[in-house]
Amino acid sequence: MSRPGASKSSVEHEPLRPTAAAAKAREPMNVLIVGVGGQGVIMVSKALASLAQSQGFEVKQSEVHGMAKRGGTVFSHVRFGPQVWSPTIPKGEADILVALEWAEGLRWLPYLKPDTGIFICDTKRIVPPFACLNRRPGAPLRYSRETPAEVKAHVAEGYAIDATRMAEDLGNERVANVVLIGALSTALDFPAEDWERALTEFVPKKTIAVNLEAFRLGRSWITEARTSVPVVEEAAARAAAPAEAPYTPRLEITPEWCKSCDICVKLCPERCLRLNQERVVELAQPEKCTGCRLCELLCPDFAIRVHLDPVAQAQVEAKA
Ligand code: SF4
Ligand code: SF4
Repeated sequence: MSRPGASKSSVEHEPLRPTAAAAKAREPMNVLIVGVGGQGVIMVSKALASLAQSQGFEVKQSEVHGMAKRGGTVFSHVRFGPQVWSPTIPKGEADILVALEWAEGLRWLPYLKPDTGIFICDTKRIVPPFACLNRRPGAPLRYSRETPAEVKAHVAEGYAIDATRMAEDLGNERVANVVLIGALSTALDFPAEDWERALTEFVPKKTIAVNLEAFRLGRSWITEARTSVPVVEEAAARAAAPAEAPYTPRLEITPEWCKSCDICVKLCPERCLRLNQERVVELAQPEKCTGCRLCELLCPDFAIRVHLDPVAQAQVEAKA
């Protein structure tokens, strides 16, 4: 099944292996989940840990999160098997690496088993403010330039998924992590119904339907990627967008979510935001905005999104 915007860029098309069965027989299964704050890394790891436990495995989970707030690195190790002694996965020992952000995925590649490891990565790029080399619009960024095709040389099996775009098409960007759970589910031989049952324990009740849809979309994406001819489409282009590509930052503000806390106004390095008469934030001086994303990362209410990607921006504007 292909949805608008759900472009495919699988860097390998061999079938995924039923690795949970292997874990039952021998060594613990090691799944490393990484991303940045606010993406739902911990939810993915908790759902997996809960599912593995319900299937009779001993499970150990460790995580680092919270200190960095939104935008900082978050990672979680999940290990399960007949017996698990340590909660952390040594370098080169992860059977599966699930990354919710492109550069984070590349950063953790040394943890993947070189010969058999499976890499599942959202092509979403979250460029941290400190990656801006100067504060002019269109300035070069210090951000990974590797393309999915280049990553292929470094992994036994890999999938670059435009999960965020797929989630946006479903009407809820926050379910991108569940699209990746759907992809992950095809690498472990737990029944799909059990995955869905585990998922519903960890998502808000009112979002169960969209989360299940996202999960099934991730599963079907992998199935399709395994059988289709590799294509380097928009997802790859998005991941590989030249770091110095010119862009015009565009702020998407959701007024109903803005609580007038003033954080973004005070911390915007260019002082280009203000609260309007209704005490809702607005971009007062767009020409000064560098697209540093600080406002998006710091807003506790997710009221601001900064669009930098020219392709994504064009699409959003075409829909409007
Ligand atoms: S940080 Fe978020 S909630 Fe606070 S003023 Fe800015 S947009 Fe509104
Ligand atoms: S408005 Fe946001 S993205 Fe633009 S310069 Fe200010 S903090 Fe950075």
